[in-house]
Amino acid sequence: MGISRREFIKYAALGLAGSAALTTEVFKPLSAMGLDDDRAIVKHIPTVCEMCFWMCGAVGRVVNGRLVKLEGNPLHPKSRGRLCARGNAGMGLLYDPDRLKAPLIRTGARGENRYKKASWDEALNYVADRITKIKEKYGPEAIALFAHGSPGSYFFDLVLAMGSPNISFPSFSQCLGARNVGYELTFGEDPGSGPERVDMENSRVIAMFATHLGENMHNSQVQDFTEAVGRGAKLIVVDPRFSTAAGKADYWLQIKPGTDLALMLAWLHVLIYEKWYDEDYIKKYTEGFEELKKGVKEYTPEWAEKETEIPARLIAETARELGRYRPNVVVHPGRHYAWYGNDTQRARANALLNAVLGTWGAKGGIYLKPQVKLPSLKGKPFPETEKESVAIPDKYPFAGGEGLTNEVRRATITGDPYPIKAWLVVGTNLVKTLPNQKETLQAIKNLDLLVSIDVMPMDTTMLADVILPETTYLERHDELKKVYAKSLGIALRQPVVKPLFEVKPAWWIAKELAKRLGLEDYFPYKHLEDKLRKQAKLWNIDYDKLQRKGYHVIPNSAKPYFGPDNPPKFKTESGKINLYSKELEAYGFDPIPKYTKVEQPPQGYMRLLYGRVPMHTFTRSINNKWLWELEKENHVWINTEVARRLNIKDGEYVVLENQDGIRSNKVLAKVTERIRKDCVFLPHGFGLMSKRLSRAYLKGADDQGLITRYRIDPITGVTGMRVNFVKIVKEA
Ligand code: SF4
Repeated sequence: MGISRREFIKYAALGLAGSAALTTEVFKPLSAMGLDDDRAIVKHIPTVCEMCFWMCGAVGRVVNGRLVKLEGNPLHPKSRGRLCARGNAGMGLLYDPDRLKAPLIRTGARGENRYKKASWDEALNYVADRITKIKEKYGPEAIALFAHGSPGSYFFDLVLAMGSPNISFPSFSQCLGARNVGYELTFGEDPGSGPERVDMENSRVIAMFATHLGENMHNSQVQDFTEAVGRGAKLIVVDPRFSTAAGKADYWLQIKPGTDLALMLAWLHVLIYEKWYDEDYIKKYTEGFEELKKGVKEYTPEWAEKETEIPARLIAETARELGRYRPNVVVHPGRHYAWYGNDTQRARANALLNAVLGTWGAKGGIYLKPQVKLPSLKGKPFPETEKESVAIPDKYPFAGGEGLTNEVRRATITGDPYPIKAWLVVGTNLVKTLPNQKETLQAIKNLDLLVSIDVMPMDTTMLADVILPETTYLERHDELKKVYAKSLGIALRQPVVKPLFEVKPAWWIAKELAKRLGLEDYFPYKHLEDKLRKQAKLWNIDYDKLQRKGYHVIPNSAKPYFGPDNPPKFKTESGKINLYSKELEAYGFDPIPKYTKVEQPPQGYMRLLYGRVPMHTFTRSINNKWLWELEKENHVWINTEVARRLNIKDGEYVVLENQDGIRSNKVLAKVTERIRKDCVFLPHGFGLMSKRLSRAYLKGADDQGLITRYRIDPITGVTGMRVNFVKIVKEA
């Protein structure tokens, strides 16, 4: 029997009871759990959650070898004794009967879903043999990696050891890339990603651009946000939709989609022309203030009102709120940034706001990364690659080292500049991650080998030639994790239960493949734990204690704020904050962001916005029994007036059709005044197409299927995806 939403909230509240929960809930009598048995062996094993990529510290309560409960580790700064709903539901992934259980080799056509079960030896020999043939025929660069999450690191090493430079992470192209580059160009450093170093617990004013905290449940960040709201921090939420965060805001600025840059530039105008900045700070620590001042002169609140549809009075008032309380304020850097194709400049404008407000290194602003350098274990150097990476082409001068997924896909389709013939896909569902599914499928058709390393039979997995079933995060060790919170900490992921079925950890799969390819020297350990022990010793950490506690704080590593003993240091070439970017100028880009209009929906269409629901991590968790019970399918948010005009009732099924005539699955309408008339909102990750996912299969609508268009950011090459328009078709 499933659990109701009410019961779930009650349950989640138990998980949110802080460190006390660990001592009361975890240690409650077994009889309370129907497990009263004198001979029961109960263990509490700390590990690291990976139900999403925030990677909180978790503690598994294991009874007679079976995991019965997960709690937050009170010692870990990302959980602080609490897990979010998804973290609590980790057992749903571990014990999901739909899991991949043994290696599979394809016997039918791609996508036909016909496989034969293979032994590990057979499957690994098969993959190694195919890779060797591809290398001989096309060169090592014909092998490419797409990866997300912890398991990716072992395959990263494997692909580099093979001599291929073609590595790409959707986390850059489809998520954080533009943001990080925009900040690096300004401050010489990104604002962190797990966690973002946003000091909300001490902020007096927080401004957020479509940052859906409360729907995005990144644990410690939501805790900080909740504390800030409870403490009375002022909240400015910029969003076309009345999101959960907007529900807590002092100012909800219901912006016209696509015009965020106009609002940011107008805020800069007010802050500069009304002198809400610290002259001394600007003089000492920044470069290019006069150019910035000139650059934002035309962007008055009155001008921005016409673009954003936010009254000029409110634009000025909210900028002044930020200015009044600077530097103890923050313009949240946000996360998913691949929106309109002007994303790096939008990130620059966001960074410039923080620069002018002096928030970098200020209490309540963006705190500083711990500067401790931990030595690395020396490994065998990877061979020089003969060919340039297709994932980091010269045409995008600021594409990061994480590689551009869309460029690897493009090269696989065109064979330009050389053929890509094998993909190793680790922990990422590319069909549901990259824009334009047709292109992804076309690229897959050109491959001689597609290997999927995953836990669940996802859409992309079920197109693979060979499927190598991975352990869940609850059944394996992974590399020691550095956590850049206010202090630097080290977290240990270790198995809380033995691997189920015939699955193997990613490090073992990569190492075994390396052995078969004559590359074993790159994996100089018998078991990954040998390496972890060596590493811990090198860092002066007692590994046995780490096993018991799960987290170790590096002493004296916290210096979160600038001060007399910690003067500002910026890792830019000039050593100052770049208000004017000479680097961008050198490549022919605007050194100060300029406003450019984005295309608006044609008559009869609305912009497709997408995002999260709090109980899911996109496609990864939809099939999880507990989480699925809470949200089985997604709802499309439609403005009340639009719905009335189209005669659509709340809770009725509709179909979305995009500008290219592509239709979605049927999806439930959520008729609401909480969204503008010119857009709809559809939570991402639903409408899975793999028949082996017994709960998630075809439940809800797939936003990615409707994202047939994308706009490439010329600076970083990331793919803006909020450029698709849909109309609503009543279901037949
Ligand atoms: S935020 Fe939630 S799902 Fe993500 S790692 Fe933390 S507990 Fe796990």
